[in-house]
Amino acid sequence: MGDRELYCDGCDADMPFEMPPCQDGHGDDCPELVCTGCGAALLIATFPPVRTARSTLRRGDAVRRHRAA
Ligand SMILES: [Zn+2]
Ligand SMILES: [Zn+2]
Repeated sequence: MGDRELYCDGCDADMPFEMPPCQDGHGDDCPELVCTGCGAALLIATFPPVRTARSTLRRGDAVRRHRAA
């Protein structure tokens, strides 16, 4: 993975950013980058969108009746 050049507020310039050691378990998908100039952390949102949970459709939900005892 190479560095990414992004604008850094701290350096007031385009600086190479690199991925810091992730402490949140993101691994290679960590959305965090750190400026190599001043060390400012930047969050990028390039990770894939979160999968939405499929709503389980109830089909043919039979009406349950109490069995007459
Ligand atoms: Zn992370
Ligand atoms: Zn910087």
